[in-house]
Amino acid sequence: MGAMIQVEHLSKAYANTLAVDDLSFEVQAGEILGFLGPNGAGKTTTMRILTGFMPATSGTATVAGFDVFKQSYDVRKVLGYLPENVPVYTDMRVEEYLRYRAKVKEVPRAERKNRIESAMERCFLKEVRRKLTGQLSKGFRQRVGLASCLLHNPKILILDEPTIGLDPTQIRAARSLIQSLGGEHTILLSTHILPEVEMLCKRVIIINRGRVADQGTPDELTQKMRGGNRLRAEVRGSKEKLQAALARIPSLRSVTWDDKNGVQDFTLETDPGRDVREEISTAIIGAGGVIRELHRETLTLEDIFVRITTQE
Ligand code: ADP
Repeated sequence: MGAMIQVEHLSKAYANTLAVDDLSFEVQAGEILGFLGPNGAGKTTTMRILTGFMPATSGTATVAGFDVFKQSYDVRKVLGYLPENVPVYTDMRVEEYLRYRAKVKEVPRAERKNRIESAMERCFLKEVRRKLTGQLSKGFRQRVGLASCLLHNPKILILDEPTIGLDPTQIRAARSLIQSLGGEHTILLSTHILPEVEMLCKRVIIINRGRVADQGTPDELTQKMRGGNRLRAEVRGSKEKLQAALARIPSLRSVTWDDKNGVQDFTLETDPGRDVREEISTAIIGAGGVIRELHRETLTLEDIFVRITTQE
């Protein structure tokens, strides 16, 4: 099916800031792409350009094949956008608000009732359908925003920090909702919450200062950054004997020690793709050591993210 969102050499300059700087990426049909970056990286600006909200300074972007600026009417038909702060009319009841939104979005009159019911159901809003939107908690308002996004059954969703400000239960519900929308919908998901990315996204693009800093699967990024593997061990024994024994293991790159009254706390870096835990435990035991703990350490996407965005 090809790319549903295609961004090519996109740049956006505000008065003094180049917010987006020659950015290119694409989102394939049915994919949930994680759109990551520190504050001020240019995520919101990119998303606003994609929704036709404002023009780019240069470059092109298409959504479902439509040019986001020249064909913004067509784009709006296929796109649902959840901004970070959902503008919800405070003096309308939930159901009333969704009816109003359905009309604005030109959902055919005959289909409106069903679409509204189904959106309320998917976003767990039925219990608050008669509440004034202004009286809802942030979590519920976010869900109203998402329901409003879904009314015209858009193929493509752009979600800006959809779980921000939600409590843990609401976060879980929102994530499984997003997960269930993948496949049928193409989703560009901006978030700060890395476990969310690991759960929802097969692919991630990290932007920094308006440019692509890196992209890949969460696993690829983790692998790439850590290069080798890292092991942690806590061993009772003589540091000198242990050092001598470990020095004979060929794929060990480095060892850092922390001697705590005869208990050695150490971190070992090994060559990538090799599991040397057994060699290490044999060496330690051979040197008269007692292993209290030995485990592989995995860098989280969070570690990677910090490294990538502070490297530049
Ligand atoms: P992010 O969503 O990744 O936090 P933004 O797209 O909001 O990043 O911002 C990117 C850069 O553009 C920032 O330096 C920000 O200060 C600047 N910026 C954003 N909106 C405007 C605006 N309306 N006018 C001037 N500068 C802006």
